[in-house]
Amino acid sequence: MHSKPADSLADSPLAWEARDLLRSCVHCGFCLPACPTYRVTGSELDSPRGRIYLIKEMLEHGRATATARIHLDRCLTCRACETACPSGVQYGRLADLGRELVERQPPSSRAAAVRFVRFALARVATRRELFTPLVRIGQALRPALPAALQALVPARGTGGSTTRDLLAWPAARHARRMAVLEGCVQPGLAPQINAAAARVLDQLGISLVAARDVGCCGAMAHHLGRSDAALDQVRRNVAAGKRLLEGGCETIVSTASGCGAFAKDYGHVLRHAGASISAAGARVSAATRDLCEVIDPAALAELVAAAGRTREPVRVAWQAPCSLQHGQRSSTTGRVEALLRAAGCELVATRNPTLCCGSAGTYSILQPELARELRTRKLDSLLDDRPTAIATANIGCLEHLRQASPVPVRHWIEIVDSILFA
Ligand code: SF4
Ligand code: SF4
Repeated sequence: MHSKPADSLADSPLAWEARDLLRSCVHCGFCLPACPTYRVTGSELDSPRGRIYLIKEMLEHGRATATARIHLDRCLTCRACETACPSGVQYGRLADLGRELVERQPPSSRAAAVRFVRFALARVATRRELFTPLVRIGQALRPALPAALQALVPARGTGGSTTRDLLAWPAARHARRMAVLEGCVQPGLAPQINAAAARVLDQLGISLVAARDVGCCGAMAHHLGRSDAALDQVRRNVAAGKRLLEGGCETIVSTASGCGAFAKDYGHVLRHAGASISAAGARVSAATRDLCEVIDPAALAELVAAAGRTREPVRVAWQAPCSLQHGQRSSTTGRVEALLRAAGCELVATRNPTLCCGSAGTYSILQPELARELRTRKLDSLLDDRPTAIATANIGCLEHLRQASPVPVRHWIEIVDSILFA
């Protein structure tokens, strides 16, 4: 697809980058059936190809129309279209550039209330020192909250009937050390996930240390088109990540696949920020792994066998987050399924495994109707074969699905941990 930026964008590197990315699209439409929003609305403008046309128009006219903004806002950035595209269109990067161009329009292009919610999300949800106390207040008031609000706040301690301390973190005792990203919302909503990862890795001869200096990965601000705020977060995290690597940590582990996918892209995010910081970003990206990449299924199977647990296999429906299956696909495909089987779980069949659950970072707040419809469809397909639990690998999907699921939704490492230590 050919395009030439308007004269008003001639000095914008973003516009030329978007022009280059557009070129590989041959408008074949193979991506349409893979797109969750197109499947719900049936509108070409809610498809990858339609959005690519809207970005092209925006480049050529030098301004964003309300139509372009509405349909880019409705995109989940799930990147299912990238997996489906035979021409290798880097749609995720193109959509980010399109959103950045939209955000440069005068503020009147969005309703004031929507702008406020976007601002609050970028300012509060990205800061764990604010977000965690707010969650704790919500949990304390939970019994008195109306049902709709109660559903948004997870109850404290999600271990069912267990009396174990789910936050117990083993002392660092191994020569092999890895640092785990704390992130922004996960410590408030589900602090037991990283603790479970630390316990399992400890049994495998690896000490996991919490990377407390590393804050929000920057993905939320980035996908909201707030590139300056995202760049500040990325710079801070790269400096902290570099210190961890120089201090002897061999890997930076992410237990939230959305954060991991973005951290693996730091080198690209910092491409215009100067040679030294962009090289440091590339180094941190290269050292970042999703948790499923650092545990060997064979070693886990041995550990489970040695633990001698005899119990009915847990029937698990695996929900592969888009950030894992489309964002980090080359390194993580099939990995969690192998680990769950190694731990003795029975994986049930699901339909449409490549489709998004509708969580997508802030999407479930900013596009609640589409997000609810996608969640209903996803849960239908996950629950088809009557699992006793749903496993996922991203806090956003976990929380979004949990709010409507009749069976527990847990990070897969929590299930492995419960098999090993319950
Ligand atoms: S599949 Fe790829 S090349 Fe074809 S329309 Fe979609 S983005 Fe363009
Ligand atoms: S990123 Fe997802 S929602 Fe957006 S166009 Fe691609 S498939 Fe559709």
